[in-house]
Amino acid sequence: EQPKDTKTQEQAALVEKHPCFSKEGHRYARMHLPVAPACNIQCNYCNRKFDCSNETRPGVVSKLLSPAMAARRFQKVKQHVPETQVVGIAGPGDPLANPKATLASLKAIAKVDSEVHLCISTNGLALPDQLDDLIAAGVKHLTITINCIDADIGQKIYPWVYFNQQRLRGRKAAQTLIDRQLIGLEAAIKAGMLVKVNTVLIPGINDHHIEALAEELGRYGAFIHNVMPLISDPAHGTYFGLMGQRGPTKEELDNARALAGQSMSQMTHCQQCRADAVGKLGQDIDIAALENPTANTS
Ligand code: SF4
Ligand code: SF4
Repeated sequence: EQPKDTKTQEQAALVEKHPCFSKEGHRYARMHLPVAPACNIQCNYCNRKFDCSNETRPGVVSKLLSPAMAARRFQKVKQHVPETQVVGIAGPGDPLANPKATLASLKAIAKVDSEVHLCISTNGLALPDQLDDLIAAGVKHLTITINCIDADIGQKIYPWVYFNQQRLRGRKAAQTLIDRQLIGLEAAIKAGMLVKVNTVLIPGINDHHIEALAEELGRYGAFIHNVMPLISDPAHGTYFGLMGQRGPTKEELDNARALAGQSMSQMTHCQQCRADAVGKLGQDIDIAALENPTANTS
């Protein structure tokens, strides 16, 4: 085991370089690679036509890349934006429901730049099984979306979970997902990963539970908590099982973050980026124009 000081220094370096884990990281850029189309659960706020709304902005369809295309894109972006320090896979489905494509992409990226910080965003269902592979591939930043730790609430959020070749429903589905998320969370923290937890705030569903959830995350030792508003916009399609569900008001969001903030430091600068976002936060670059400079984009 490493001395505590060395571990702390390593963690500080991890925090500093990632724009999503620290506001100071904003001078660095991140890049999301859309290489993972499938998902192993169904969230009621996701209609599956768009990017995974656990991490990224719903209503956006990313053009899927193969691992080789992803590495080429990274190479090009790195030439134009040398501050690109972080490469993450956040969809458009769940990266760990697409283990071959995800691992092949991580390896291809690390070949281009061995110093790059690799980042994965997942619903956590497959995390206990795949954590060792992620560590071996060099992943040090992890985001798990945990919307609740109470299966009664969870069954209102997740209509099904596909686990061990079975489609689970109801309370059992939610409990299985929650159990796996917490096992994965504990193991990832123990392995020295920097773990962010995303929670989608859904008024009337999990808003009264945010404080208890954050307390539990604090006990586990998660690094930062990102309470994100449900973005409910009919222009982006109707949500599968929460039709008519509104997103939280700014006041409700502030209130939830304040309650959660009693036990977990809160991330408040998340932009709910696209699964193919590239650049510094809030200053995305146009990847289509970069990859195809002669095309008329007007
Ligand atoms: Fe959709 Fe992401 Fe939920 Fe899967 S984990 S159902 S892709 S929001
Ligand atoms: Fe960072 Fe949020 Fe964008 Fe992910 S979605 S890259 S956490 S700002």
